Amino acid sequence: MTFIPPSDDDAVAPPVKLRPEILASPPYRQGKPATADAFKLSSNENPYPPLPGVLEAVAASGAINRYPDASALALREVLAARHGVSAENIHVGSGSVALLSQFIQAAAGPGNSVVYPWRSFEAYPGLVTVSGATSVPVPNRADGSHDMVALAAAVDETTRVVIVCSPNNPTSTTVSAAEFETFMAAVPGDVLVLLDEAYTEFVTDPDAVRGLPLLARYPNLVVLRTFSKAYGLAGLRVGWAIGPVAILDAARAAAIPLSVTEPAQVAAIASLQVEDQLLERVARLAALRDRLSAALFDQGWLVPKAQGNFVWLATGDATDAANAALLDGGIVARAFPGSGIRVSVGEEESVEQLLPITGRIVDSLPAGHPARRLG
Ligand SMILES: *Cc1c(COP(=O)(O)O)cnc(C)c1O
Repeated sequence: MTFIPPSDDDAVAPPVKLRPEILASPPYRQGKPATADAFKLSSNENPYPPLPGVLEAVAASGAINRYPDASALALREVLAARHGVSAENIHVGSGSVALLSQFIQAAAGPGNSVVYPWRSFEAYPGLVTVSGATSVPVPNRADGSHDMVALAAAVDETTRVVIVCSPNNPTSTTVSAAEFETFMAAVPGDVLVLLDEAYTEFVTDPDAVRGLPLLARYPNLVVLRTFSKAYGLAGLRVGWAIGPVAILDAARAAAIPLSVTEPAQVAAIASLQVEDQLLERVARLAALRDRLSAALFDQGWLVPKAQGNFVWLATGDATDAANAALLDGGIVARAFPGSGIRVSVGEEESVEQLLPITGRIVDSLPAGHPARRLG
């Protein structure tokens, strides 16, 4: 075994010079792993196995002693044909979180700011810190939805990027098409807007924004999508961006080359070829989500209208106790201490196991608690 000399303050002060803003940042925290007898509802993963043909395509994907196609051309061509754009208007990354990093790096550095709603996707603050830019988090409204007017108002001459997340992780709320268009009209055309649509496949609300049809109208808009959630390929790491070529080229320049593997590329193509089966699974999860939301409402929860494959319990200062009750009952959810709990929509049986526990939790909340419905 290699000997690494210990030091009393190993964890506190590294012996080498590092960037202070990085030292001050917490490392990315993942949803808790599940124990054998618990349901893992902490990472918004798809409970279904890969779609038919996907594993076969991965197994046949050829020699792993060779590098993958760095530009993922075959996958870009499939996506481009289906969305009526050129393959240059598509950029593939190793997950949409990699794409977020690339766009932020490409646009923002020290002295610039990145505006995003909060609470939202846990990765945003860290990615901004790494870029050297400054985070400008804008509080959500009381119901967990983005305050799009405040978001636009937070843009100033230092702003390089604004991130919008619809449905929002973790509150599951959407931005309406009307709100989004008013917002776009207020944001200067030289500020990049990233619309993070990681969960858009699960959206059933006809008023919710859909990014793709808006691309023709807003030259500063880029839409981010992923194969991790609806398509169930989280473990393979593949996501894509669609937008103007010149902006995507900047992200391509900021990318770590060759990070999207060949198995990921072929799995994504194979998944797109069985879209009807994908949509059927997505519809089943969306229906289960709606049943779960309705049951929570009946129990007395004030749940934001959920449009992702997850629901938000605004447990606030009761979060630790509520999460302990969930864990005790075999439900591993994602707790944000002092704020709330995000529960993914998983297997049917997980919902059956979940509901009696949430019923007890809501009954234990004091009257007037923000997570409790009046009356
Ligand atoms: C899960 C998630 C992503 C990232 O997914 P990848 O696995 O990196 O494609 C991006 N944005 C939001 C809001 C997410 O919840």
